[in-house]
Amino acid sequence: ISDRESNSNTKEMTLTKELKVPAKPKNARGMVDNVLEQFNSASDQIGLHPNIRKILSITNNEVIVNFPVKMDNGDVEIFQGYRVQHNNALGPYKGGLRYHPTVDIDAARALAMWMTWKTSLAGLPYGGGKGGIQLDPSKYSKDELERITRRFTFALGDNIGPEHDIPAPDVNTNAQTMAWMADTYMSTKAPAARSMNQHVVTGKPIGSGGLEGRDRATGYGVFLTIKFWIEENNETLEGKTFIVQGFGNVGYWAAYFLEKEGAKMIGVQDAYGSIKNGNGIKVEDLFNYTKANNGSLVGYPESEAMEKEDFFALDCDICIPAALGNQITEGNAHLIKANLIAEGANGPINVEGEKILLEKGVTIIPDILCNSGGVITSYFEWLQNRNGELWNMEEVIERLDKKLKESYTKVSDYAKLEGIDMRKAAYCIAIQRIEKAYVQRGIFP
Ligand code: GLU
Repeated sequence: ISDRESNSNTKEMTLTKELKVPAKPKNARGMVDNVLEQFNSASDQIGLHPNIRKILSITNNEVIVNFPVKMDNGDVEIFQGYRVQHNNALGPYKGGLRYHPTVDIDAARALAMWMTWKTSLAGLPYGGGKGGIQLDPSKYSKDELERITRRFTFALGDNIGPEHDIPAPDVNTNAQTMAWMADTYMSTKAPAARSMNQHVVTGKPIGSGGLEGRDRATGYGVFLTIKFWIEENNETLEGKTFIVQGFGNVGYWAAYFLEKEGAKMIGVQDAYGSIKNGNGIKVEDLFNYTKANNGSLVGYPESEAMEKEDFFALDCDICIPAALGNQITEGNAHLIKANLIAEGANGPINVEGEKILLEKGVTIIPDILCNSGGVITSYFEWLQNRNGELWNMEEVIERLDKKLKESYTKVSDYAKLEGIDMRKAAYCIAIQRIEKAYVQRGIFP
């Protein structure tokens, strides 16, 4: 959900009288396998010490909380929330909270691992964590989502903390969610310590400790990494065509900046449907349409509806999966026409799908680089709060540009030097930085 949308749709509620036992999403185990395979293949490449491989193959801590929330009609519903802390060798755990039916402990594990590599690659003083609640937010009113978020925060207690584990927005959570979390967490602290705890979460609204530009940073970063690649290949974005899967915060902002540079969005898919228009779909028009249409792109007039399965087969230059994990697999990778895939989402391509794409000569800008603009600006927000500063948009964009350019160049150079793809290169750099910390410090006791 875009930070510019609100969760105010009061659709009919489904009420559960007993504890919901989360049904296992089909792809959750697949995501853990995926991230571990990516990790092991890079570890082989760098000859990672087996002891460090053991440590990084498991998660440090896993918190599952069940908590009751009163619904608008007075009934009580029980929710299950997760926070997985994968590794903190480089600093506090960092990563988002997702509200989605596919969230479970395995999904949280995989996503937490991706955060460890992402923060390490970006050179941030953070480790990796991830979590969320298994629910469909469209089924709840805004008041209910506020109470769910506050009880979740209370249930997590000191398992999160500004110097320990710092959540942020992810799928279906936004600045409002973070404001509720920060307020709830701070309210549990002694009055004199409250304001010192503002940086327990990042991605807050401007005015409540949030950072200028944090809302667009992930999508902007996706756009930037695409631009770096295009420039590296002596081309320009003018006239390039692209498709976007997911028109939430990441997909929308990536499309917005690509369009500004002259690229044309010719296909979009969201949770409700898929549309195409070879002459281009106007990003802002579609955004306004979805806002007025309960967040859905279905029925957008300046386009043609299409079958879900045909979406990735659209003829285009750039493909941006910016929704959920495991979307491009051995089942559809061969259909892809784009020669560049920019991973706005975390884990959108599985290992088998990636093999097919690499054989076809498709370049993949990996998630841990491509969408790292979000966590990089989260770090800026955290610094801003910690130091009692207020940064302006120009400062944020300037520092983000610099950091992303550094990461991109490191990955691209490493990939060329070793003759490997960008994902493996990104992993090698990320893992080596963590390895170094372990070698320097040793293992307690
Ligand atoms: N949820 C985002 C991600 O997957 C942002 C995490 C953060 O800012 O901590 O990278």
